[in-house]
Amino acid sequence: MSEKILIVEDERSIADILAFNISRAGYEPVCAYDGAEGLRRALSDDPDIILLDVMLPEMDGFEVCRRVRESGSAVPIIMLTAREEEADKVLGLDLGADDYITKPFSMAELMARVRANLRRGSMTPAPAAGDPDVISVGELRIDPHAEDVFRDGKAVGLTHREFELIYFLAQARGRVVTREDLMNKVWEFGGYGDARTVDVTIRRLREKVETDPAEPVYILTKRGLGYMMA
Ligand code: CA
Repeated sequence: MSEKILIVEDERSIADILAFNISRAGYEPVCAYDGAEGLRRALSDDPDIILLDVMLPEMDGFEVCRRVRESGSAVPIIMLTAREEEADKVLGLDLGADDYITKPFSMAELMARVRANLRRGSMTPAPAAGDPDVISVGELRIDPHAEDVFRDGKAVGLTHREFELIYFLAQARGRVVTREDLMNKVWEFGGYGDARTVDVTIRRLREKVETDPAEPVYILTKRGLGYMMA
């Protein structure tokens, strides 16, 4: 069965081109032309990934993103932003988007991002008891099969990207990882990335796993170098 890709975009010509290329790449495109319909389909059609425009009628892309995350869904979300403002990109990531791409973008770039995000979302589940893949750090239990972190047996509710980031840092525990390394290995940006994406995702992650996000004990900043799992 091919992966379903939800396209939320009010400009029909752009939605059509996206749907055409997605279909040609072997995925199943589903289009929504305003924010309210996008949200409805995001919650009812069970997409494998969402391409989400920011400027939309009915409900903007930020609100759609926020509500999708509020519903508990961890589906990868790539924001399509027409604006260059740094604040817009950061807001989308803060609300739980995994990635963003600035219009105008090339179809090659978009499809590379889609593939990278889908790959990240397709890890196979397996029994977790005594599992060597599970990494424990202090009170955290980082479980790649559940794609989540557990504190006192309770899932903290991470998105795919947040999980991939913390799992990568946990595997490299005690070693400083540069933002460039994280962009290439976790996001697989291959030159398209923006280091700000890493910083915002780290901030979101700390809010979920640290007791005091301002004084992190798990995910440490090594100024001028990168990040490290304690
Ligand atoms: Ca638009």
